[in-house]
Amino acid sequence: MKSAKHESKPATAVVDHLIGGERVAGGTRSGSIYNPATGRVVREVLLADRATVGQAIAAAAAAYPAWRQTPPVKRARIMFRFKVLLEQNEDRIVALLTEEHGKVLHDARGELRRGLENVEYACGAPEFLKGEHSKNAGSALDSWSEMQPLGVVAGITPFNFPAMVPLWMYPLALVCGNTFVLKPSERDPSSAMLVGELLYAAGLPDGVFNIVNGDKEAVATLLTDSRVQAISFVGSTPVAESIYNTAKDKRVQALGGAKNHAVVMPDADIDNVVSALMGAAYGSCGERCMAISVVVAVGETTANELVGKLAAEVRALRVGPGLDEANDMGPLVTAAHYDRVKGYVDLGVEEGAELVVDGRQITVPGHENGFFLGGCLFDRVEPGMRIYQDEIFGPVLCVVRVASLQQAISLVDNHEYGNGACVFTRDGETARYFSDQVKVGMVGINVPLPVPVACHSFGGWKRSLFGDLSIYGPDAVRFYTQRKTISQRWTASGSQERTKFAFPGND
Ligand code: NAD
Repeated sequence: MKSAKHESKPATAVVDHLIGGERVAGGTRSGSIYNPATGRVVREVLLADRATVGQAIAAAAAAYPAWRQTPPVKRARIMFRFKVLLEQNEDRIVALLTEEHGKVLHDARGELRRGLENVEYACGAPEFLKGEHSKNAGSALDSWSEMQPLGVVAGITPFNFPAMVPLWMYPLALVCGNTFVLKPSERDPSSAMLVGELLYAAGLPDGVFNIVNGDKEAVATLLTDSRVQAISFVGSTPVAESIYNTAKDKRVQALGGAKNHAVVMPDADIDNVVSALMGAAYGSCGERCMAISVVVAVGETTANELVGKLAAEVRALRVGPGLDEANDMGPLVTAAHYDRVKGYVDLGVEEGAELVVDGRQITVPGHENGFFLGGCLFDRVEPGMRIYQDEIFGPVLCVVRVASLQQAISLVDNHEYGNGACVFTRDGETARYFSDQVKVGMVGINVPLPVPVACHSFGGWKRSLFGDLSIYGPDAVRFYTQRKTISQRWTASGSQERTKFAFPGND
């Protein structure tokens, strides 16, 4: 364990930065962090200026040469200790998640658990960095490939998974030998700060990992500083696309927004489908990039039964502060986001969709200033409507009625986003055809949220991901390393090599 300066402190009234292993101030601007369940400001966050971000990049650059040469097994051992500290500090981390994001505690625990999986995966660094070797690739010629780190890399993360998404990035980047600068969402940065301090408590050398809090000024600095070799971004599609197009001199993976469809076939077990859809659509108040926001019901009978049963469940949702574990759904993250989501519900009514359950009038006693919106359910949504096309990112589920599986697949394929889609059926042929044909990156068969486990990789298609590699898992090892292939020949003493002018073969 490291010295007292690395012991994590309780969340302070002002969230600063973590640079070179120290909490430091930086930047003259600040933003407010709200508790969305009460609508009150709980702390302020400093917004880093260019100089502060430059200081973090410099710390990461200074730490890189020694960290690059640290044996992977030693880097992995830090991750083992980090994993233990994350487990020991679970209650503190999830309390911060719930306080600043609003999600209910059991959902926050699930988020942390999925983040931890990536730390566990990173513990396997000696195995996945061992490279490839060919002895006698030619006569007395050996050839091998190494996965070398890139240098300083940066991560920019969204508000909706303040602990998990950063953990998708830096455990893997670090065990691959890179140093890291993280820029969390300015709306709920405290859990990332606490987790970052635990990483230092696990024994990380100073400067290997840094956090700058801030907004687009901090992001612009990361994008334009030539010392930063690669950017991992997760957030909305307009920002993802702009980052991908701006950071031309860097390796970039930019994961964007989504509109995930669940196709329900006439043979599906409707009661199980309803249970699955409730969690997938309304869990975390719909603020998940893998949330189901569209149900495609195949056949009128399926649609009628499904809408009737869903409506009863949506009306029964327990909405309230996330600290009360009896609640199913907490508030939206900010007042501005509440207005945006409510605006979409208003728009859906104007567009002519049938609002079967209207959550706009909900009040939560004792939390009248919280950003609570009840679950909303639209039926008879048409593909031309904006509530179908746009990512709403709230507790709003749209039902589209179609006549066939092929029509359902065409809907998914024609949507601009392609993160995930799932099918509910009891027919293997249907499931196999759907998973083979549908144009999205992650598919569920009777699984509503097909978020891959850490030993696979996570990524969408179309305008849900800009870049060639998905995030975490094996793709992350490729993203955070560059391949070097070395060929060597040790000529036996006394043997004479002849000059050859032909392009060398492997003889
Ligand atoms: P966002 O795009 O507003 O912000 C993401 C990050 O970018 C934040 O750190 C923010 O400070 C920064 N940022 C915001 N505007 C910027 C700008 N103009 N220039 C530079 N940087 C900017 O996203 P959000 O609202 O925090 O998160 C929700 C979005 O993230 C949703 O669209 C959701 O689908 C998406 N998301 C996607 C995935 C995925 O894996 N594909 C995962 C989680 C969230």
